[in-house]
Amino acid sequence: MTRFQLTIWGARGSIPAPAAANTRFGSDTSCIEVRCGDHVLVLDAGTGVVGCGRKLCCEGVRDLDILFTHCHFDHIMGLPFMMPLYTEEAVVRLHAGHFLDKTSCRSMVERFMRPPYFPVTPKQFTARIDYRDFRPPKVLDLAGGVRVRTVRLNHPNGAVGYRIEYAGRSFCYITDTEHEPGKPDVAIRDFIAGSDLMIYDCMYTDEEFPTFQGFGHSTWQEGVRLCRAAGVANLIIFHHDISRTDAWLEALATTARKAFPGAIVARTGLTIDIGEGVRILEGG
Ligand SMILES: [Zn+2]
Ligand SMILES: [Zn+2]
Repeated sequence: MTRFQLTIWGARGSIPAPAAANTRFGSDTSCIEVRCGDHVLVLDAGTGVVGCGRKLCCEGVRDLDILFTHCHFDHIMGLPFMMPLYTEEAVVRLHAGHFLDKTSCRSMVERFMRPPYFPVTPKQFTARIDYRDFRPPKVLDLAGGVRVRTVRLNHPNGAVGYRIEYAGRSFCYITDTEHEPGKPDVAIRDFIAGSDLMIYDCMYTDEEFPTFQGFGHSTWQEGVRLCRAAGVANLIIFHHDISRTDAWLEALATTARKAFPGAIVARTGLTIDIGEGVRILEGG
């Protein structure tokens, strides 16, 4: 059996949202662990990466790729607390390609982890760090037969969408991005076409969207429209606004499922296997 799994470690947008009313869906920001056979990928290093890193260390994982969609705080703020970076025998490749100027992945991390903003610098990482730069639509061929396609997203300061392909299956990670109402983003539609699943920036609803135009985010209804247009059967509603409580997200899950049976609201701990078709293993 082919193991091609993803686990959500953080599904919030903007900033963590710890509150008693948010315990079911979780409070951590963007981080997804991906297992392609024995190979490990991590998508984004929001606060969810802290727990993810601890687990990877406990499991003895010593080789991994971290792919950043972009470097807004909610997607990188967990990085300084990620244990594998402080594990001497580990090899960690960091990939970034969203920049609209000549910024490199290395300088992104160095500029973020430095005094007076933070006391620890990347020099204190004891793992072997390999910084890798690309620009979309570059295709990244990673170890273990994992192919990653890339696309530019519509987001302030740039962002990259990923399509992870392994063993004849694929899923797409499309956050953060803004759509134009009434006009599908054809670049995204073509990019996700025929994929098994899409994780999508569903920060807002269509009803709220006029208030938030220009913020760089999208709606769950737009996620449904994209999935329909591209023949993608499964949608993971992701990047929840911090105002969304468990009760609100439960209600959204019911509404979204009625509109699109393959819609699932992301929560910390949600684990899905794609290897033999999409199957929820935990947290559905
Ligand atoms: Zn974000
Ligand atoms: Zn962002």
